[in-house]
Amino acid sequence: MFETLTKAPGDKILALMGEYAADSRPTKIDLGVGVYKDEKGVTPVMTSVRKAEERILSNEKTKTYLGIAGNKGYGNAVLDLVLANSVDRARVRIAQAPGGTGSLWVLMQLINRARPGATVYVSDPTWANHNPIALNSGLQVATYPYFDAETRGVKFEQMLAALDKLSAGDVVLMHGCCHNPTGANLSNEQWDQVAASLARSGALPFIDLAYLGFGDGIEPDAYGTRKILSAVPEALIAFSGSKNFGLYRERVGAAILVARNGDEAEVTNSQLLNIIRGAYSQPPDHGAEIIRTILEDAALRSEWETELAAMRNRMISLRKKLADAIRERSNSTDFDFVADHRGMFSLLGLSNDAVEHLKAANGVYMTGDSRINVAGIPEDKVGDLADAFLGAIR
Ligand code: PMP
Repeated sequence: MFETLTKAPGDKILALMGEYAADSRPTKIDLGVGVYKDEKGVTPVMTSVRKAEERILSNEKTKTYLGIAGNKGYGNAVLDLVLANSVDRARVRIAQAPGGTGSLWVLMQLINRARPGATVYVSDPTWANHNPIALNSGLQVATYPYFDAETRGVKFEQMLAALDKLSAGDVVLMHGCCHNPTGANLSNEQWDQVAASLARSGALPFIDLAYLGFGDGIEPDAYGTRKILSAVPEALIAFSGSKNFGLYRERVGAAILVARNGDEAEVTNSQLLNIIRGAYSQPPDHGAEIIRTILEDAALRSEWETELAAMRNRMISLRKKLADAIRERSNSTDFDFVADHRGMFSLLGLSNDAVEHLKAANGVYMTGDSRINVAGIPEDKVGDLADAFLGAIR
């Protein structure tokens, strides 16, 4: 049987983590892996999460099955968090799924049931797992212009022109906020224009919302998603609770579908549940029960929002410190984009040689496309890092 197989390519980020672990230099800096880290370099369990877990542990009465769509209280709480009142809930269905990735997976399967082999347009560049999930689901992948390597902002005119050419049956995958890997995001006015374009073309918006609250705040980060939902008849959203609740290993996310009306929502949802049943039957509960407990309790929720704001503000402050340090040393505003970007990442736009040089000469690790995890910048080494970046591009 297995002699027919050839070795699949390894995961680049895991390989980079291995290289970093093997580097014995005490000054090494890990800007590679995509998890939030605090000032001690630790990915902490949030206090609100800890408290919710304690409650769950003492109150839980059963471990019996939950059902295909998972934890209902969680589903309703996530809909309130993400959608607010942007869309009539009669047109909406939600299924808890294993992480943002599991949510993307079941929704891609759903697209392929509705339109086998449909084309999913992804931003150029996009998160490395979007392509495999789409291709593994039987879909085609194409790109729309996004990152401007000159300004390190969004090539908005070109993006909009490409979106304007799409038609019903096409799918447009967008990062709801905190674009990964670039850190470059749309302004509210640009989201308005994207929503109008999608309403005109009939292409299906598919929003990957993996960092809600990591950019400028929960409400500002939800602007694009809500704007689109208020403008179009149909949409899909893959929500992740990995980053904003720090629940990476609990695998908690949600697949949200918005249909033209309640009847179509019901039919479409029956297909979604059928896909889940035939894949993993039901999602794991623990992470969802944590999020439900936090979002339904005013005190825990406010504690979570405070903790989330602290993570967000730390990343914004590190961005500013790095941009300032580079400006002071170089007298140039070329790296000011780092302070304008939002979310956990910035794509620096360095050559592969520069990335390799930073690793070899300075022990600074980032992915080959020159994406840095801002949360990985040590507060006391911002100056060293600025020197290293300037040395690598000289
Ligand atoms: N989408 C994007 C853009 C991401 O960066 C991530 C996490 N790296 C995910 C989805 C999925 O995250 P998870 O499956 O861990 O919830």
